[in-house]
Order: sequence, then structure tokens, then C-alpha cells
Amino acid sequence: MDAKNYVETVLEDVKRRNPGEVEFHNAVAEVLHSLTPVFEKRKDLMDAAILERITEPERAISFRVPWMDDAGKIHVNRGFRVQFNGAIGPYKGGIRFHPSVNQSIIKFLGFEQTFKNSLTGLPMGGGKGGSDFDPKGKSDAEVMRFCQSFMSELYKHIGPDVDVPAGDIGVGGREIGFMYGMYRKLSNSSSQGVLTGKGLTFGGSLGRTPATGYGLLYFANEMLADKGESFKGKKVTISGSGNVATYAVEKAQQMGATVITCSDSAGYIYCKDGVDLEGVKQIKEVERLRIKEYVKHYGGEYFEGCANIWDVPCDVALPCATQNELDLAAAKKLIQNGVKFVVEGANMPCSLDAMKAFQEAGVYFGPAKAANAGGVACSGLEMTQNALRLSWSFEEVDEKLQNIMKNIFKNSKKAAEEYGYKDNLVVGANIAGFMKVATAMMGQGLI
Ligand code: GLU
Repeated sequence: MDAKNYVETVLEDVKRRNPGEVEFHNAVAEVLHSLTPVFEKRKDLMDAAILERITEPERAISFRVPWMDDAGKIHVNRGFRVQFNGAIGPYKGGIRFHPSVNQSIIKFLGFEQTFKNSLTGLPMGGGKGGSDFDPKGKSDAEVMRFCQSFMSELYKHIGPDVDVPAGDIGVGGREIGFMYGMYRKLSNSSSQGVLTGKGLTFGGSLGRTPATGYGLLYFANEMLADKGESFKGKKVTISGSGNVATYAVEKAQQMGATVITCSDSAGYIYCKDGVDLEGVKQIKEVERLRIKEYVKHYGGEYFEGCANIWDVPCDVALPCATQNELDLAAAKKLIQNGVKFVVEGANMPCSLDAMKAFQEAGVYFGPAKAANAGGVACSGLEMTQNALRLSWSFEEVDEKLQNIMKNIFKNSKKAAEEYGYKDNLVVGANIAGFMKVATAMMGQGLI
């Protein structure tokens, strides 16, 4: 069988064996299509059924999460943890609380995480977890009871050398704190390295909170520099207003860009002279309100419908909200308006056809698994500090983060060039991420 047939056959098999899991199919398709040139050179990997193995999670857990709201009413949610690949280190990846969460989404995220973590150069395998619980509008006490119930099952499956969860959409410092407290109680162990994104007083790392947003800008900055440009004076659109978006705004502004948008699932704000970051933080992080409220206090304009954010002309677009938020129609609009760089802050925010459209139009495209790896990279640094029982300064962590992001860019670009795909960071990141995991799997026998 030739390389192309091999990839197509495995892809068809993945679709057949995982019916209805569209997000997972798309993530697998994106990676597998990039890998065809690898199998043209490495028939031994094909003979070892590496793709058949790497697309099947090592373990997938689904469990009941019952909890009681403040009024005494009982609710039942579903919890997930997918331990996708542990070849290069303990499973590692976030936990997402969002009503859209299902097995397909967690598998897509776990699969992506495997290659993302590999790209960081740190010894971390890939995993992901979550629940269809919606934290929006819930009291602190309700969130705490939910987190405790969630951890009362999850604790059996994790550990500093086994699986190390962290935050993702809907899970931040508050939720990690509640989960860590419950883990410690149930396991009678204060193994701090079991979760990352912890509070600074119980093993958290300085620099972890802004790491994904900062890392995104460090990576994007390499892309701009590669084309002889910088962020100074650039008009940047950023979607989202959560952890990734907030710190992406901060770093973009520090680099001299004007960030003109932010959004949430209901709509977006447009501020032609630049968004006021403190205002966004106040509304979203402190008061936990809709982004709509921003314009009442800080000016700018509000528009309903978050997808229309991509109608706003810009030099650089940084989608930082969620998967598939930027489709083909949005990509066409951005191209028509002259966008030069699109760099993914969220996990797979651009649909496959949108991504292709950018590449065909000569827009320099930075894929999520490379560009947003800063968060998990800093989680890896948090694990190291926990193992050493030390805390590094913010400057130390940030410097390491900058180096990691520079290396991810360099390695992705190099892998792309090696296989004849100049400037195609999608292919480059997929190949570079895959090769390390595949080599580790080959070295460990039939696993
Ligand atoms: N949820 C983040 C991601 O998608 C971070 C995961 C972690 O720190 O383990 O990479």
C-alpha cells in the first residue's frame, strides 16, 4: 500500500469505528493528511501500524457526576477523562466544563494535546477531560460541590506520574483549587504535581496564568519576524475574553499592537483605538458578566453575534475563543480585508476549509497545537518545580516559556521545509509533534 492509501484507509477506519464523532474525525484528518510525506520515507512506521495505534486512546473513562444546587435540587452531569497517549510521559491536559462537552470533543482535544505536548520538548503525554456541566451563573458553592463530586471519581485515575490534569474552558484557578483540595483529602497525599494551574500558596507556578496568551504572542512574533515584520502598529483582532484572550491582549499591547476586538459567545466589542484590558478583566474575570456590559463603562461599540467579529479588518487575527469559531465564510472575509497572519489561540478555532483557504491565499497560518502550547508548557514547568519542591521567579518561568515557543516555531518550520512544505506550519507542527511520539512508541515494543 502506498502512503496516501495508508492514510486514507486509517482515516476511513477511524470514522467507521467512532461514529458521529465529527470533532474527533476532523482533528485526526488534519494530522493524518499532513503525515503522508512521512510514510513515503518511513515504510517501517506503516508496517508497525503506528497510525492505527496512535488514533486509539490508551484509555477513556466516562463517569456519573451527581451534585446538589443551592436550592437542594439534584443534578447529574457526565464526566470524562481520555488518556490518549502516555509514550513520552504522564498523560497531561486540561479539564473543560462546558455544556457542549461530549466524548468526541474530549477525544479531539486529547488527540491534539498528544502532539502539542510533544512539541513543547517536555516529557508529557496527552490527555483531556471535562464535563457537560455549565459553570455559567452557578454560585461558588455550587461550583465547589460539582468539583468535589467530579474529583471523587477522577482521583482514582490520576497522579503526578500517571495523569496530570489542568484547566481549560470553564476551569480556572478556582476550580483547580477545589479539585486539588478534594484530591488531597481522598488520596491522603499532598502530591502537588497531580494538577497544574494551582494557587501560588499550594504549588502553583508564577507565570502559569498568562502562559497560553503570552506564549501565543511569542509564537506569533516569531512568525512576524520571519517575514521581516513586528507587532508595532499592527491592528489585531482577538476573539474570546477568557484566560487565553485576556493575556493575548496584554502581550499584544506590550508588543506595540492595537487590539481592536474581544468577544464572548453572545457578541463582540469593537474599540477602534484599542480595548481597555483592565475593563475586560473587570467585566469578565471579576464581575463575571457578558462582554456587552463593557461598552457601558469603557466605551467602544457592541455587536450581537460573535461570529461576525471576523468582518473587522485587521493585519493579524488571533482566534482565542473555541473550536470551529472561524469558518470558511469568515476566512474569506478576513482574506478580502487583507489579513496577513492568522494564529490560533484556542484549540482548533479554524475549520479545516478555513485553514486551507488561508494557506491558499498566502496568509501565514499558525496552528493551535504549536501556537497555544505555552499553557501546557508552563504546566510542565509547574510539574518540574513541584518535583523539585522549589518555586522559580516569574522572570525565570517567562524566559523558559519564550525559549520553548521559539523552539516550537523553529522545529515546526524546519520539519515543514525538510518535507518540501515551505511556510506550512500546519504540516511542520504535525510532523515534528508526531515523530517524537512515534519514535517513543516504536522504542517501547508493541504498545
Ligand atoms: N488546556 C490547555 C491546553 O489546551 C492547558 C493544558 C495543561 O496545562 O495541561 O493546552
